[in-house]
Amino acid sequence: MLNLECQVDILINNQEVLAQNYAEIHDPGKLTDVVGRVAVGTAEDVDKAVQAAHNAFLDWRKTNSKERIEKITAAVKVVQDSMGDLVPLLVREHGGMLWEAQTDFGIGMATLEYYAGIGENFVKTEFIEDDSSWVSIEKKAKGVIGAIVPWNMPVCLTMMKVGPALVTGNTMVIKPSPTAPLAISILLKRIAAILPDGVINVVHGDAGVGVALTRHPLVKKIAFTGGTETGAQVNSNAASFFKAVTLELGGNDPAIILDDVNPADIIPKLLKGVYTRSGQICFAVKRIYVQEKMLDKFFNTMCDIVNEYKVGHGLAEGASFGPLNNNKQYNLVKAMIENTKNSGAVVRELGSKLNPEGWDNGYFLLPHVVKDEDHLSQIVSCEQFGPIIPIIPYKTVEQAIEYANETEYGLCSSVWSSDIQRALAIGQQIEAGSTFINNHSFESLSLGMPFGGVKNSGMGRELAGEPTLSAYIDYHTMRYLK
Ligand code: NDP
Repeated sequence: MLNLECQVDILINNQEVLAQNYAEIHDPGKLTDVVGRVAVGTAEDVDKAVQAAHNAFLDWRKTNSKERIEKITAAVKVVQDSMGDLVPLLVREHGGMLWEAQTDFGIGMATLEYYAGIGENFVKTEFIEDDSSWVSIEKKAKGVIGAIVPWNMPVCLTMMKVGPALVTGNTMVIKPSPTAPLAISILLKRIAAILPDGVINVVHGDAGVGVALTRHPLVKKIAFTGGTETGAQVNSNAASFFKAVTLELGGNDPAIILDDVNPADIIPKLLKGVYTRSGQICFAVKRIYVQEKMLDKFFNTMCDIVNEYKVGHGLAEGASFGPLNNNKQYNLVKAMIENTKNSGAVVRELGSKLNPEGWDNGYFLLPHVVKDEDHLSQIVSCEQFGPIIPIIPYKTVEQAIEYANETEYGLCSSVWSSDIQRALAIGQQIEAGSTFINNHSFESLSLGMPFGGVKNSGMGRELAGEPTLSAYIDYHTMRYLK
């Protein structure tokens, strides 16, 4: 049934530009419903948007930080006021739970507020003077920032780029993901409307649009969140034009469980980091290491708890988590589950279908828990991005640390113990951007705490003060000798 709610167009200079082609967005939890249509942009649209952003930059960079902070503060209110209509729309286009979409907006809003709060202090010119010389250190906006975002948490991942870019005086061309473009585009249109024309522009489209953005000579920095393979392409395209990049990429986060915990006490909290967004979060817990003596107890306790989950539509009362976002991801995770079943690991399919009649009309998968003796199996080594979690035994803490580090990724990680000092000492040895102690979920994030990965999980940091903001400016110094 066609249930068309909205159409999002390309946005250049605060004008909606009609495209030649539009793609339908289907509800991943009710595939027969069309939620809206999104413009399919081209490289030509990217060029026009970048030109508009560049022209806007010539004036926007001259505004003082107070004016920009006023605008960002007004944007916080826009995000808040938009939750009523856009949160349910986001659920219907990306497949998450209502509370997950609210969290996405909530983190987005808090991020803008944070940059409005710290921006003025960061951008002010520093002076160093002694008997022999005078030095000024100015922080100058780079110009046009190209922002490319994925579908899993589109609002907060976009605001993590909008906040630092605007407060430092840059303008933007943003490419949302084609599989969750509606709510974020409407939100960006509302935010753009309170800013001078051309400060925020939006171009939709496939990877060709992303490539055009990363290769445009007037784009001075790319802020990218997405998969590691795509990040490598973005990095190499940007490097040929000497653009700065921030890359927030994939993860395969380990959780190390020490033998001094009671499984029943920690598992409910640990699970918040496993199945939220059906596992489709960059820093979801993706492998769990358990001391071999408590493996069976841990596995059985976890299965009992997971078995209570109900999988259903994000707007349905009683659903624990929703469908996967898109067909590609759905098929990938299904194939992974089959492969794991054939590998000799113990695989438990758990939970229940909230609406069995509607099950095949969505990208639904039940939660799976795996007991895997092979610490290098596919399900342990890859970023599964779905509701399946391997539990792997270790003999010694040293071995657990070795296993945790035995990966190309290094986004986040966690250590679970009743002894905080012991957990911190282990955390220091993990190769990752962050290690959380006795938590590993949205509540682990904190504004001001740099977020980002090492190894193939990325370059640069978001959500922080100086480590984030300095990637959006160029220093300009002047000195005279007395
Ligand atoms: P993708 O890497 O497939 O896509 C991300 C964005 O990049 C999309 O808008 C995509 O457009 C675009 N894109 C694709 N190819 C290119 C290219 N060559 N040049 C420029 N842009 C391009 O990621 P997903 O959308 O599938 O998101 C899931 C991934 O994102 C996971 O690996 C996850 O871990 C990671 N992620 C990382 C986070 C972090 O903070 N570290 C947070 C959230 C997610 P199109 O879809 O049209 O191809």
